[in-house]
Amino acid sequence: MPEKFRQLGISEHTLHAIKTLGFETPSEIQEKAIPLVLEGKDVIAGASTGSGKTLAFGTGIIHNSKPDYGIQGLILAPTRELAVQITKELKKFLGEKKLRVISVYGGMSMGRQMDEMRNAEIVVGTPGRILDHLSRRSLNLQFVKTLVLDEADRMLDMGFIYDIKRILAKLPAKRQSLFFSATMPPEIVKLANTILTDPVKIEIAPYSKTIEVIKQAVYFVSRPDKKNLLIHILKNENVSSALVFTRTKRGADSVTKFLNDSKIHADTIHGNKSQQARQRALNNFKSNRTRVLVATDIAARGIDIEKLSHVFNYDIPDFSEMYIHRIGRTGRAGLGGTAISFCDAEERYYLKEINRLIKTPIPVIDDHPYKSGEAENNSIEIPVKKFKASKKPGSFHFSRDSKKRWVRKSRSKKW
Ligand code: AMP
Repeated sequence: MPEKFRQLGISEHTLHAIKTLGFETPSEIQEKAIPLVLEGKDVIAGASTGSGKTLAFGTGIIHNSKPDYGIQGLILAPTRELAVQITKELKKFLGEKKLRVISVYGGMSMGRQMDEMRNAEIVVGTPGRILDHLSRRSLNLQFVKTLVLDEADRMLDMGFIYDIKRILAKLPAKRQSLFFSATMPPEIVKLANTILTDPVKIEIAPYSKTIEVIKQAVYFVSRPDKKNLLIHILKNENVSSALVFTRTKRGADSVTKFLNDSKIHADTIHGNKSQQARQRALNNFKSNRTRVLVATDIAARGIDIEKLSHVFNYDIPDFSEMYIHRIGRTGRAGLGGTAISFCDAEERYYLKEINRLIKTPIPVIDDHPYKSGEAENNSIEIPVKKFKASKKPGSFHFSRDSKKRWVRKSRSKKW
């Protein structure tokens, strides 16, 4: 069985670990990236969480690192949760190799991190905290052989670009750089070009596998009725575990509150929660102590939850690729799952963009008590943008709304 993995050139320690984990075949990203990574090439890959990318870059780092030779692998991730998850995942692939992998992120004691770092070979961290350690000289990156930027598009969205550039300046020029991003808007490609040397591009078949196994549905509902509809579905349908996405932190808090008020056990993770609170909420959800987890995109990014039965888009994402990332939390490892979206009148534009991206309109559920009468047209056509004439004669400007959409559309352009 690990024969297919062996053919990629993976070393014995990791092959042994893969066998223990019971992986049968390499995922697409693993098949394409591992031989290049092991050859020492720089790679830019369009792959998101759930694609198996941790093993794809981890194999190279593990192969190239030796115990007691300082920090040889540095992985930058946008959020603490993702850093913790990558660390956990990487440790699984070490086999008998005595390498130490640690996570470094804000909210943890600096002192403890400094102690851990003295003996680590692989560091997974958020850019801000890595930079903190660099400025205190408690982190030495001169022995780094491999740099990984994971979820690079998120890091850019979250404003980490300057932190990343400062970290890059502290790394040896001769190194391998691996760049992973779920989306490839032009600014990401530009950043990649400044970091990578003669990179090989890898694209994996976008989304189809994820989408196929997920049952999707959209409910047209007015904004005030979304609350009642969510309670109605959670009380009446067979929903064993649900991840509910909201666009804002306030929205997440409000959904959590009304669910709990209706005796539906819910918790929330978002950027304003302490690290401990987020980790606790996540652990409770993963171990089925909490049935519903309400999250914002950034907080939930990269979070891997096995056997999640439902994803709810309480707010339709305003960036169509985000829809794929959200619903991809369910339907893991070929298991089925259901993705339910609530769409109010103002979100119709975003829904059309999503329909266009996934190439088939999401089936509409008409039979529910909060129907808003919006269902007449769920086509793929995008409404024509309206341009308002500017007050200045002879010139035009975008309305605020259409300008936002234009920016979004250019951000979501694929490479
Ligand atoms: P990742 O995209 O690296 O976060 O991986 C997503 C999940 O898939 C993790 O739980 C991995 O342990 C699992 N995984 C990675 N590669 C494989 C594989 N080849 N076969 C089965 N599961 C895998």
